[in-house]
Amino acid sequence: MAGIVTQELAELIITIDGPAGSGKSAVAGLLAQRLDVPHLDTGAMYRAVALKALQAGITAEKPDQKRLAELAGNLDLAFDWSTSPAKVLLDGKDVSNDIRRPEVTAIVYLAADNTLVRAELVRRQREIAAKTHGLVTEGRDQGTVVFPDADYKFYLDADIKERARRRFQELTRKGISADFPTLLADMHLRDQQDINRGVGALKLAAGAIVLDTTALNLQQVVDAMVKIIGSPRHG
Ligand code: C5P
Repeated sequence: MAGIVTQELAELIITIDGPAGSGKSAVAGLLAQRLDVPHLDTGAMYRAVALKALQAGITAEKPDQKRLAELAGNLDLAFDWSTSPAKVLLDGKDVSNDIRRPEVTAIVYLAADNTLVRAELVRRQREIAAKTHGLVTEGRDQGTVVFPDADYKFYLDADIKERARRRFQELTRKGISADFPTLLADMHLRDQQDINRGVGALKLAAGAIVLDTTALNLQQVVDAMVKIIGSPRHG
């Protein structure tokens, strides 16, 4: 697409971090297509651990952290890159939709806050990058912790009301009823969880380029990134 793929561009590691609703997944998916490299949704990995935890009877009331780490260590998790977005396979089964269920979202912080789970998923993320030639990877800690030496690091941000509005539209489109004030409060809670996490907290990576997407559509954000990546670097 758009004829920008050269050998050099196709081997870049590009990280995209930012809060929930900043447009990371959609932007990362489009950018990866433009560069013809895989798109790694690291949030899906934390969600897969959370789904496995639910299946194992781990709940917010009974958060067995040791068992959670064991589950992550033995996780049979793979991505099928032949589709866009990639399919998420847990124990060989396509769980791409299941990991987005509200009950999974509600406990995913248990996985994200667990230091051992994070260490295991960070290891797997680096392993994936070592195998793919080029990767667009998105999450909260990709530019800070997982790939501090990435070729390009982006930090997407947007006004919290705009992020809640996007989530509202997304749910409405899917035919799921949603309440804006609840979504806004939920967004606020997720921001707090992301920012205050002991390990892998959401913060600006050294050298990251900040893009405020509040007033931009998807295509404009991706175009801005492509322009930056395609330009000769300074310094
Ligand atoms: O991006 P998404 O909402 O799918 O992420 C699911 C959960 O995983 C969120 O709670 C987020 O904070 C966490 N996460 C993380 N580190 C990442 C990606 C996601 O802690 N690299």
